[in-house]
Amino acid sequence: MSNFGGFLIEANLIGGQWAAADSGKSIAVTNPATGQVIGHVPDSGADETHRAIAAASAAFKSWSKSDLSFRVGLLHKLHDAILDQQETLAALLTAEQGKPLAEARGEIAIGAAYIRWFAEEIRRAKGEIVPAPTGDRRLLVTHHPVGVVGAITPWNFPSSMLARKLGPALAAGCTVVAKPATATPYSGLAWGKLIQDVGFPDGVVNILTGSARAIGGAIMASPDVRKVTFTGSTEVGKTLIRQSADTVKKLSMELGGNAPFIVFDDADLDAAVEGAMIAKYRNMGQTCVCTNRFYVQAGIHDAFVERLKAATAALVVGNGAEPGVQQGPLIDDAAVEKVEAMITDAVAKGGQIVQGGRRHGNGGTFFEPTVITGATSAMQFATDEIFGPLSAIFKFSTEEEAIAAANATEYGLAAYAYTRDLGRAFRLNDGLEYGLIGINSGLITTVEAPFGGLKESGMGKEGGSQGLEDYLSTKYVCLAGLKA
Ligand code: ADP
Repeated sequence: MSNFGGFLIEANLIGGQWAAADSGKSIAVTNPATGQVIGHVPDSGADETHRAIAAASAAFKSWSKSDLSFRVGLLHKLHDAILDQQETLAALLTAEQGKPLAEARGEIAIGAAYIRWFAEEIRRAKGEIVPAPTGDRRLLVTHHPVGVVGAITPWNFPSSMLARKLGPALAAGCTVVAKPATATPYSGLAWGKLIQDVGFPDGVVNILTGSARAIGGAIMASPDVRKVTFTGSTEVGKTLIRQSADTVKKLSMELGGNAPFIVFDDADLDAAVEGAMIAKYRNMGQTCVCTNRFYVQAGIHDAFVERLKAATAALVVGNGAEPGVQQGPLIDDAAVEKVEAMITDAVAKGGQIVQGGRRHGNGGTFFEPTVITGATSAMQFATDEIFGPLSAIFKFSTEEEAIAAANATEYGLAAYAYTRDLGRAFRLNDGLEYGLIGINSGLITTVEAPFGGLKESGMGKEGGSQGLEDYLSTKYVCLAGLKA
């Protein structure tokens, strides 16, 4: 079995040392495309987490005061090291997560880009000198690393989700205790090896695998962890927000979505279908910014459905490690059952399956990319995140109706719309209650822009200059008595 060039690491990184769980227990990690066990990672709990927090606290003392040029230099080395290993890390990512290799390569590249972005951005994290109300005073506003950061990441982007937490944390001078998702721990642990290889001081980054409740609970309870950054479900996010109250932590929460994708009659049909395919089927529909609901205006509805159906039928489903595959397996059985249940529910309420609709002939957790028309607000996918390769198409008549339907959810992460009317584009910007809005694009995540949701999709931003602010505390110092 491949050890992926030494990147298949089966230990926790605590204080610069790789170690098994205290109990000696481990958890098997399987390749969702083959069902085969790739390896085992530590089944750690609270004790290991306490030690990781202690290591991060100790390292914070010097790391937070280190020269900016030292940190920036290490981050650039880290960026280069990841790209040097892009093929190996992409293969590891596909093996544990299932996404096609081309998407895995892209995820490694954007992870590297986040590291570089924050290495650049920290050099511009300026403070302020504010005009004082009296002449004997100078008012300074200064930024400081927030402290030890707890980072909890999901299985759908196990490499880049950690990158956009590590990048700003390390640039700012924070130290980190990270917990990758149990289904996909290797891409997270690989960051630990890269970080050690390029020479970050011991304890600056600590990575643990194991019980989410125990590790998460210890991170949330610790007064030494000053910030927690989480990407995952709204349900778990709410738990963490509650748990943060006792120690009043700073929080960044990237939670669930229910993205609308609105196609107006005046849209460029080719562009809309191309954007729809990316926004819906990337990572087999398993991203928090994936389209959950297509709203298509009556005049373009049938043409759009015809084209989307054909493009969906043409998707190549298989093991993501094989050339040409565009759709891998879903992450696990529960994910398949959820999609099946949503299809059953929709059909019972009058929806029509025009493409796919069943488990794929490959078996396992492969599922046929599916298109359903005649969707209504009574169907389960109108309110719940699908997280699978199912396109649900609603028909609408007016712009007001589309915006109101798009906003009829407690989520507010990503929204997409296709129109050639500039005035409408600005009305959508004003009207859509979403943190990320793609007008005439189905793929808008980029390191330069702030990624983050409104409403129950979360708080805080990742990427952009805003992504750094979340890792900095602001202090105001008044220098008084300056008159001669
Ligand atoms: P997803 O299904 O997208 O992975 P989850 O919210 O279930 O979303 O998981 C995201 C991350 O949060 C994972 O690393 C998971 O192990 C972790 N997690 C799940 N439950 C808890 C919890 N109670 N406390 C802390 N972390 C948790």
